[in-house]
Amino acid sequence: MNRLLQVVFAGSRKTGQVDLEAVEMLVRESVHRAGAAALERLLAMPAPQPSNVSCGCGHTAQYHDKRSKQLLTVLGPVRFQRPYYVCPHCHQGQIPRDEELDVAGTECSPGVQRMMAAVGSDCSFNQGRDQLALLAGLKVTTKAVERHAEAIGTDIARREQDKVNHALQLELPQILGSPVPVMYVELDGTQVPVVRAELKGRVGRIEGKPARTREMKLGCIFTQTTTDEKGRPIRDEASTTYTGAIETAELFGRRLYTEAWERGWSRASKKVVLGDGAEWIWNIAAQHFPGAIQIVDIWHAREHLWDVAGKLFPSDDKKRKSWAKKLIKKLNRGGVQTVIAELRAFPTRKPDLRDILRTQADYFERNRERMHYPKYRKQGLFIGSGVIEAGCKTVIGSRLKQSGMFWTVRGANAIVALRCTRLSRKFEDYWASRSRAA
Ligand SMILES: [Zn+2]
Repeated sequence: MNRLLQVVFAGSRKTGQVDLEAVEMLVRESVHRAGAAALERLLAMPAPQPSNVSCGCGHTAQYHDKRSKQLLTVLGPVRFQRPYYVCPHCHQGQIPRDEELDVAGTECSPGVQRMMAAVGSDCSFNQGRDQLALLAGLKVTTKAVERHAEAIGTDIARREQDKVNHALQLELPQILGSPVPVMYVELDGTQVPVVRAELKGRVGRIEGKPARTREMKLGCIFTQTTTDEKGRPIRDEASTTYTGAIETAELFGRRLYTEAWERGWSRASKKVVLGDGAEWIWNIAAQHFPGAIQIVDIWHAREHLWDVAGKLFPSDDKKRKSWAKKLIKKLNRGGVQTVIAELRAFPTRKPDLRDILRTQADYFERNRERMHYPKYRKQGLFIGSGVIEAGCKTVIGSRLKQSGMFWTVRGANAIVALRCTRLSRKFEDYWASRSRAA
């Protein structure tokens, strides 16, 4: 450090100027190097070295030799030695020290792994690599960011799956805590572009066109304690948690139920499930959240009316608007029955229009009991699923749907598990429990 400072001071005396950025980067680099040397010494300190350790096969692995490993730490590369054991029975080799340090199967220290998870969760792996170089002075490959972010996401997803499996066996511990006035479950699906191999045997969503995407399901849980002076609901700050995956509605239902349970679903005085009209959503609501108030997002319901209006009056803007607004008014006032009647009674001889009217009337009929909007408003409840729609954009869209991105299901699920955990403010807990396990 002294030598470095001498060079820096000599340089600035000579020119009378200080290139602060060049100096700060240079100093960071040297400080890192000094730190890496200290870490190297720490890792070289004599540690207890048993002559044998137990092997997974039930026999005992014997000390074989010492092996060297290069590790990238937040202070730069270090090299260290650790004992290697081999089981004479199954010939499996193992390095207990790597497990202890949480560096098994990786050339990156826990600190670097965590940084990779952070940048790989927030931006493309490419950008993540650049961020690490700029912000942390670490040189890593794009592939390394991808591999580590995905490995950590996969670990998170695996732990969640364990919890879900416990939930199925009704082994979930009762979650204690203060009562929750209103708890909401919102769920939705959004399309994620995937690599071709993930589309085998799947038909596209648009007839005649091959599938390019798979549906990722996202759910969120949040709470509400109060309303504003106008009686409009206020979401409790920082109360939203997310969970999502590309998976069947059946598996997703269990995942969402487990998340809600953890959030204290059983303690909620009022329970609400909010979503659009998709059938799988209400199947999940019926199976996993019985007794909850079911609400169809009012904006979706309105959108349906605008769609019909567009078909009925394709060239008459005035009529289109007045017809749609009339029915929306009825919907807002709780007159869903009138809306259905109007749709069924609309006079037309065109068969395609009759089909559209019937389909839409059926939609309102099916969701009739989920459209008592004045009643929900009076109770100060949310009637729009804006939280999950925003979630689809922030949790999934902004990271997984950038142009040129094509995902494997495994990769997409890993990154979404990671993002959900971080955006639900659970990552620190996960990381702490992970180091305890190591
Ligand atoms: Zn063995």
